[in-house]
Amino acid sequence: MIGENIRRVEREIADACGRAGRKREDVTLIAVSKTKPLSMLRKAYEAGIRDFGENRVQELMEKMPMMPEDVRWHMIGHLQRNKVKYVVGRVHLIHGVDSLALAEAISREALKQKTQADILLEVNVAGEESKFGVSEAGAFALVSEAAKLPGIRIRGLMTIAPLAEDPEANRIYFQRLRQLSVDIMRKNPDNVCMDILSMGMTGDYVAAVEEGAVCVRVGTGIFGERHGAADMQNPQ
Ligand SMILES: *Cc1c(COP(=O)(O)O)cnc(C)c1O
Repeated sequence: MIGENIRRVEREIADACGRAGRKREDVTLIAVSKTKPLSMLRKAYEAGIRDFGENRVQELMEKMPMMPEDVRWHMIGHLQRNKVKYVVGRVHLIHGVDSLALAEAISREALKQKTQADILLEVNVAGEESKFGVSEAGAFALVSEAAKLPGIRIRGLMTIAPLAEDPEANRIYFQRLRQLSVDIMRKNPDNVCMDILSMGMTGDYVAAVEEGAVCVRVGTGIFGERHGAADMQNPQ
């Protein structure tokens, strides 16, 4: 079932790339495996998935050593400052940085480990009260401060669009995130690149790819429904 799901999602991504005049290899499919057992992650791996997304540090730490070394792990949840040390140097990309304090903590840990951490700034483009992320205006301020920090590389932006019945309803938020990345680069900030847009989930990844997503984060569409308390961005 997981193999079939992945093939279907792959096909839809390829079709969306075709419509948008994009290359399939410019989009990374991240399989969001939070709450799912290792047996399912292994099936996804066998079906070709190499990028996995988790939203809790504890779960990430448990799964990481049990999976092949060539897996790229993505921290997609809201990261607490005191957990930064477990993530830096181990994950490929930290998607949800939404405060200078968190960026500073990541920077300090990266310096300590003599490494560089790639991060995305989380923007709440829909302005939902319940969500983490900075406002569009706040993104400019955060970029200019966080860009000064050694040890981190700002690679782009991430957003979690509202839960919508109609995937078209979120297209505007994907357009806004993309436009924001263009506006940020127009200011020529030092030490910032905006080559990654992490946007689109099971309900709306097709529209996200058409609007320029570089990473899509698909959970349910690959692994099936989650049961229990698996909030979007569980503060751990
Ligand atoms: C859970 C989660 C996803 C995946 O959601 P689905 O709707 O199951 O595809 C994507 N992004 C984040 C940040 C998540 O927490």
